[in-house]
Amino acid sequence: MEDCLFCKIAAGEIPSDCLYQDESVYAFKDIAPQAPVHFLVIPREHIDSAAAVSQGNSAVVAHIFEVIAKLAKDQDLEGFRVVSNVGESAGQTVRHLHFHVLSGRDMTWPPG
Ligand code: 5GP
Ligand code: ZN
Repeated sequence: MEDCLFCKIAAGEIPSDCLYQDESVYAFKDIAPQAPVHFLVIPREHIDSAAAVSQGNSAVVAHIFEVIAKLAKDQDLEGFRVVSNVGESAGQTVRHLHFHVLSGRDMTWPPG
C-alpha cells in the first residue's frame, strides 16, 4: 500500500533493524522500545489491523505466531507479551497489522 510506513519497512525502502524475514513476514526492532526486548512482527501484505483479518488473509497470522515462537526461542525469552493494538482508542498509531513482542521486565495486568 502506498504511503504505509510498515509496507515501506518490509520492502526495505525505510531502514530497520531486521530480526527475521521471509516471503510473507518481516520482524524488526521497535524504534521506541517499551521493554528491554521489544520487536514487531508484520505481514509483508498490507492488512489494516487485527480487525481486518479474515478467512482470506489469516494464514499469515498463523505464520506470524510461528515466527514469534522461533524468535522467542532464539533469544531465550523466558516470558514475553504479544500485543496488537486495534484502533486509535487502543493505541494503534500505524495502520498496518503488527504484533508487538515485549520481554525482559516484569509486566502488570491489566495493561493500561
Ligand atoms: P502501535 O502504536 O501502532 O501499536 O505501534 C506502532 C509501533 O511502531 C510503535 O511502538 C512505534 O515505536 C513503532 N514505530 C513507529 N515508527 C517506526 C519506525 O520508523 N521504525 C521502527 N522500527 N518502529 C517504528
Ligand atoms: Zn502497509
